[in-house]
Amino acid sequence: MKNLQDIRNLFPIFQTKVNGKKLIYFDNGATTQKPISVINSIENYYAHVNSNVHRGVHYLSNLATDKLEAVRYSVQKFLNARFEHEIIFTKGTTDAINLVASCLRGDFDEDSEVIISELEHHSNIVPWQLACEENGAKLKVIPLKKNGELDWNVFDNLLSNKTKLVAISHISNGLGTINPIKYVIDNAKKVNAKVLIDGAQAASHIPVDVQKLDVDFYCFSGHKVFGPTGVGVLYGKENILNSMPPYQGGGEMIKTVSFKKTTFAELPHKFEAGTPNIAGIIGLGTALDFINQIGLNNIFEREKKLMEYATEELLKINGLKIYGTARKKSAIISFNIDNLHHYDIGVLLDKMGVAVRTGHHCNQPIMEKYNIEGTVRISLAFYNTKEEIDCCVNAIKKSIEMLS
Ligand code: PMP
Repeated sequence: MKNLQDIRNLFPIFQTKVNGKKLIYFDNGATTQKPISVINSIENYYAHVNSNVHRGVHYLSNLATDKLEAVRYSVQKFLNARFEHEIIFTKGTTDAINLVASCLRGDFDEDSEVIISELEHHSNIVPWQLACEENGAKLKVIPLKKNGELDWNVFDNLLSNKTKLVAISHISNGLGTINPIKYVIDNAKKVNAKVLIDGAQAASHIPVDVQKLDVDFYCFSGHKVFGPTGVGVLYGKENILNSMPPYQGGGEMIKTVSFKKTTFAELPHKFEAGTPNIAGIIGLGTALDFINQIGLNNIFEREKKLMEYATEELLKINGLKIYGTARKKSAIISFNIDNLHHYDIGVLLDKMGVAVRTGHHCNQPIMEKYNIEGTVRISLAFYNTKEEIDCCVNAIKKSIEMLS
């Protein structure tokens, strides 16, 4: 990895002052910051390339199409997918999960079951509730243990030939637990169930190989991998995507349209109705180039050290309790402090220039499990530093003094 300060200098936002203080950004689980290369590629697209894709005969349209399709190839390589056309551009993880839930719900009936877990983000709960409710299918939930790991014995017992699909997060946004997704996929295969992995918190922290995993669907969001908002990726196996009906109808996704019969485009365009987020997709491509330059293994190792250091230092604070102590954890630390409200801590940290998230983190079932309303969540990225962790710990101590 290059010198860390050189890498931090590539992020203009780190020059920003918040409440007169140097920004310490510990809310990377919500969204990551953008390197200048990503910002420039979006500006360059609008300044010099702007045109609609896939339908023009003119120079700029072809250039925009080439740039967009080059990103599909980059994503294919990033996930090690077998084919480019297995990469579908979406608005984000939420959109990708809704696409799959919407297109597969026709396969569900009263004898079907879908398995999710108590760890899931609301985006990986509600689409399945809607799909199941419509067809009388049952939603089964793998329970969470107090240490933040899922109860895999229960999962094994839930699996049956009624299971149509298992949808699990790779990494929990609330607790940082890294789930054993290969185990999930291998066991689901034994009952012919499909598997969707929500990779929103994983794609910029841990290398993913969809062929090695033999996963059916894997999705992530651009804005959590140092790219722009409003763009994301759904990977799906070719044969499964081909067997699914289209998601949305419109331009781009058709071969021919007539009032007698409309036929649909081949993959990937069958699932990409309407003008895509061209600038966003191009920005995503630049973000993946950036990640590749740093190297996901380097990122994972660095974040692991930061997480261990932060955990150690936080636990020295009297009355601080960390939720989720899974053996395999990503750099997400959720905590509360005895007798203090998470929101008050968050507001005071903000006054001292430290950006954290407070609340339920779109994980209400996790909060219910721990019988709490919310937590303070620190979510680190590789560009964070030990010095920032020290500042944050001091700011927490000051907040406690002020609130007590
Ligand atoms: N799943 C997980 C695990 C997440 O952390 C998030 C975002 N917090 C989502 C899904 C939804 O992502 P998006 O809002 O980008 O669609």
